[in-house]
Amino acid sequence: MAFLPHSHHRPANVGPVHHQTRLVYAILIIMALYFTVIGSINVFVFASYKVAALDYTGTVGVALALLYFHRSGHLLIASWLVVVVLIGVLLSFIHMAEGRNYSIIWVTILPPVAFFLLGRRAGAWLTGLVFSYVIGFVYLRLPDWPQTAVTLGAWLNIVEVLLAHWFLFRLYERSRAEAFAELEHLSVTDKLTGLSNRSHLDTLLQQEIERHRRSGKPMTLVLCDIDFFKRINDEHGHLTGDKILQEVAEVLTRNMRASDLCGRWGGEEFLIICPDTASDSAAAITTKLGAALAKAPFSLGLRVSLSFGIACQDNSEQQSDQLLRRADDALYEAKRRGRDRAVIATSNSTYEPALTPQGFCP
Ligand code: GH3
Ligand code: MG
Ligand code: MG
Repeated sequence: MAFLPHSHHRPANVGPVHHQTRLVYAILIIMALYFTVIGSINVFVFASYKVAALDYTGTVGVALALLYFHRSGHLLIASWLVVVVLIGVLLSFIHMAEGRNYSIIWVTILPPVAFFLLGRRAGAWLTGLVFSYVIGFVYLRLPDWPQTAVTLGAWLNIVEVLLAHWFLFRLYERSRAEAFAELEHLSVTDKLTGLSNRSHLDTLLQQEIERHRRSGKPMTLVLCDIDFFKRINDEHGHLTGDKILQEVAEVLTRNMRASDLCGRWGGEEFLIICPDTASDSAAAITTKLGAALAKAPFSLGLRVSLSFGIACQDNSEQQSDQLLRRADDALYEAKRRGRDRAVIATSNSTYEPALTPQGFCP
């Protein structure tokens, strides 16, 4: 959409409000076009100026609603305006046409619009009321249904209504699909760092263990924990702590291989899943990460290091929790040995350092 309301208290372009906003704009623009086109058809093809005047009134009403929404950004009020204008025009049109040319089918436009914009309750009530009214109108005012022949006007009514439904439902489905994709993304993403969250890491880990089982190739977990992170929080505040977490996440993603999967495991802990990777290759990755962290320009010029615990799924067929426990034990050992280093868990519960002689600190 080319333009959005000026409102400043509007949240970012996410969530249902964004989709409803787009829907209001789309429906208003479609309605304005429809009224204008149909009004012109009524003038130039049918010379029915009364109906055309009504259509153009619709155009003006919709244009005013558009202007109002663009200026104020009040979604709820704009939505009610749209629905009320629509109901007014539909009912007047149905009254004037007196059942000719299948004009009655226009009332089927109401439910998609009313439900999309006003929600289930108000949508159901309004639709119910208007439908009852139209049924009453047909019963009382049109006892002998006039002229059922399919004239040109009838054809236009039928095609226009079908097209309008096609537009509305296509639009709504797109908005629904986007909202769903957004939810799906949110459900697997850690809000602060944008990395995979804990529950997504769990899923990924299960998948990788399955894959490892079938392929027989090694697979390695690297558990990373920021050193003395509490100190950063204590000395510079929680917001700086958050900023550092984001910056660490960025260094991790920038220095990983594309095939590695990285996520936020907990507070200041990250987990890297390295498919098709043996522990020595994973150790090389941690060396690279350690060097990148030492060089990275962190907020306030702070120096940040990580400790790494590495555990490899070789041929011993471990469950994910056993593998994680070994990585966690290795991480603990790295902390114990002085931090800013990586330790590999070997199969017989001992540990070996994974540092190249020059270590992490240049
Ligand atoms: P160590 O080197 O032994 O890991 O020391 P540490 O201080 O990093 O370890 P500790 O587990 O004692 O402290 C972790 C701190 O991380 C404590 C907690 O307040 C902080 N933390 C956890 N999650 C967040 C977060 O989302 N934002 C911020 N700013 N801090 C967090
Ligand atoms: Mg920790
Ligand atoms: Mg820590």
